[in-house]
Order: sequence, then structure tokens, then C-alpha cells
Amino acid sequence: MDFNVPLDSNNHITDDTRIRGALPTIKHILDQGGAAILMSHLGRPTKKLLPDGSIDKEKFTLHHVVGHLSDLLGVEVQFCDELVGEKATKMAAALQPGQVLILENTRFEPGETKGDEGLARQLAELADVYVNDAFGTAHRAHASTTTVAHFFDKGAKDFGFLMEAEVKNASKVLNDPQRPLTAIIGGAKVSDKILLLERLIDFVDNLLIGGGMAYTFLKAQGGKVGNSLVEEDKLELALKLLEKAKQKGVQLLLPEDSIIADKFDAAAKVSSANSLAIPDGWMGLDIGEKARMAYAEVIRNSKTLLWNGPMGVFEMENFAQGTKAIAEVVAQATKKGAFSLVGGGDSVAAVNQMGLAEEISHVSTGGGAMLEFLEGKELPGIKAIND
Ligand code: AMP
Repeated sequence: MDFNVPLDSNNHITDDTRIRGALPTIKHILDQGGAAILMSHLGRPTKKLLPDGSIDKEKFTLHHVVGHLSDLLGVEVQFCDELVGEKATKMAAALQPGQVLILENTRFEPGETKGDEGLARQLAELADVYVNDAFGTAHRAHASTTTVAHFFDKGAKDFGFLMEAEVKNASKVLNDPQRPLTAIIGGAKVSDKILLLERLIDFVDNLLIGGGMAYTFLKAQGGKVGNSLVEEDKLELALKLLEKAKQKGVQLLLPEDSIIADKFDAAAKVSSANSLAIPDGWMGLDIGEKARMAYAEVIRNSKTLLWNGPMGVFEMENFAQGTKAIAEVVAQATKKGAFSLVGGGDSVAAVNQMGLAEEISHVSTGGGAMLEFLEGKELPGIKAIND
């Protein structure tokens, strides 16, 4: 399960989306006459140790989710303050059909992030069946998300409903898309998305590039981009990607114009400019109006849409218009029958902020996991179930 929810300073849950997302799988197990033993991590306890070097168990205990999960399920959820050990074994063995037990934070155990076999074996011994519904950690070969699955036969392990939907929807885009297929890629840096861009060029029809990464491409083409974000060591790669797109017949669009600012600040002076002629001292922080229109046109004519990364610094109102416009057109195209997948980080936050999540075919919950899936990598958490 993914119960890695945000907590306030009083350890109250501030957003229970992930807990609600897990309910259908848990209810299904209970409805089938099963008992559920739930495992999840919460936060990064080993990265935020107490001054004496020990884990801050009070802050990171999964006990924080017990009350709310009990309310949502309508079942009194039991809690075990260890992940494995005598107590966990006893409590798991005593479970009756319809009962639910949460084990302590998986990351309290040092073996978890190492994918430790001993720990995984102990976890496996607690249950008859293993279900993984934590897509967000599927790219990590941890003990509770990957290694443990090796101790179950093929017929005794499966994806939960959330994870199944993530895999099914992303596979649809990668393996069986209706065309035209358009990828919209934004975000800060080219370097974070090299693998994704390379792979997309192999099979998309259109590639729309926005965000900070666009300026490395624009500079590589000989454009003047002022103080815009540029990765000098990726200029050559950008040219290669442009060349590859041409060879493959992919329509690759860069923003013709940009919303520019005289500094990276919400209160900066704002203007607009041709993206290849940004005045000295200014930087591109969003795609401009012409780019918005050109991108919208391509999106409207597409049957499958994949969106990863914002078109500008959408956290600042002055530079959020490009991202908003794209979110709206993607939602409209979806209404008209296109299949849309928004995945991987900040574009998900943008769609949620705009209240458009319901109008997208699939909004992924797994940032890094979705990015790696789209890059074509085999995710260890998925492979372990399929093996
Ligand atoms: P990523 O995590 O790679 O999707 O990047 C998201 C971040 O990119 C967001 O925090 C945006 O503010 C940032 N970003 C988008 N466009 C630009 C831009 N033109 N210049 C600098 N940062 C940007």
C-alpha cells in the first residue's frame, strides 16, 4: 500500500488521497473473506534521524494513519509497532476474516531499502497471498515491494487495483496507442528527461517541448535565450535529439514565443518575446501565446496524449498560463474521445491544482515510477509480480 501521506506538525493527515486510493483493494480482500496485513513506508525516517542518530519513531510511525483508515473502512484496524518479529507474527496469525492489521513503517528496518532477503522472507511468512498496490515505489527494489514477491508462487501474488490501472494505462500509451500520439514534455531540465525524450522520439507522432528544457534546444539551434535556464553540456545532445526527430518523421515543436521576466521571481517585470531572440538580462519562464495556440492545435488533433512536466514556472501565477492552457486543452481533447495520461511529478500537481484531474483519462500517482516506466525500464516491483 502507499500510505505515505503528508502530515502536519501535529501528525494529522493533510491529504488522504493515497489512503482513499487504497480502499478498493483492501475492501476487495475483505469481501472475499480474507484478512489484510498492510505494509507501507511513511516519509524518509532514515534521512531525518534524531540528534542521537536513532529513528524518530514518533514522527514516522504508521500509527498516524490507523484512526483515519479505520473510519474510512468501517473496520477497527489493528496496529503492530514492529514490521517483523514475534509480535508481528502473533498478531498476523491471530487475524480473522474481515480483520485488518497495519505493520509499522517498512523503512524503520534497515534491510527494507536494501531489498534484504531475510527481511523479505520474514514478511512473506506472515501471509498466504501478496498484493502490491504501491505503484509509487515500483521502481525501487525494496524488501517489502519487490524481494518479498519472490517468496510467493505466481498464483499467490498480484497487483492491487491502483497499480493495475497504472500499468494498464501506461502500457496502452506505450504499446497500443491510437494515433496521432502526442507527447507534451516540460519541466526544468533536459538532463532529467534524456531517456524519456530519446524513447518518445522512437514512437510518438508529435513531441511538444516546453518548460525550462526548451531553452537548451533553442540555444542549440543558435537562438538568443538571455538568462533562460540552459544546460551548456547538453547542447550537443539537444541537436542530436532534434536530428533524430527529423529522421523519424516526428513533428517536434519548440515554443515560438515565451513569457519572459527580468528575474526569477513572482514579482518580476514580465513581457513576451520570440523564443529565439530573448533580450539580454531576461529569461523565458513560460511558453508564449503563439506557442500555446500552436500546441493546442496539435493536441486537439491527437487521439492519444501523454503529458509530463509543466510548460513554465507554474508555481508563480505570472508564469502559469502556458501550463493552464495545456491542461485545459488536454481535458477538452479527452472529452472529445482522446485518451490522456498525465504522469510524473509536477504536471500532476498542476492538473490537480486546476481541478481538472477528473477530466483526464489517467492521472498517475507514481512520479518517478511512471517516468521510469515510460522510459521503457522494467520496474522491479512489477517484474517481481509478473515473474
Ligand atoms: P520537473 O520536475 O522536471 O517536471 O520540473 C518542474 C519544475 O520546472 C517546476 O518547478 C517549474 O517551476 C520548473 N520550470 C518550468 N519551466 C521553467 C523555466 N522556463 N525556467 C525554469 N524553471 C522552469
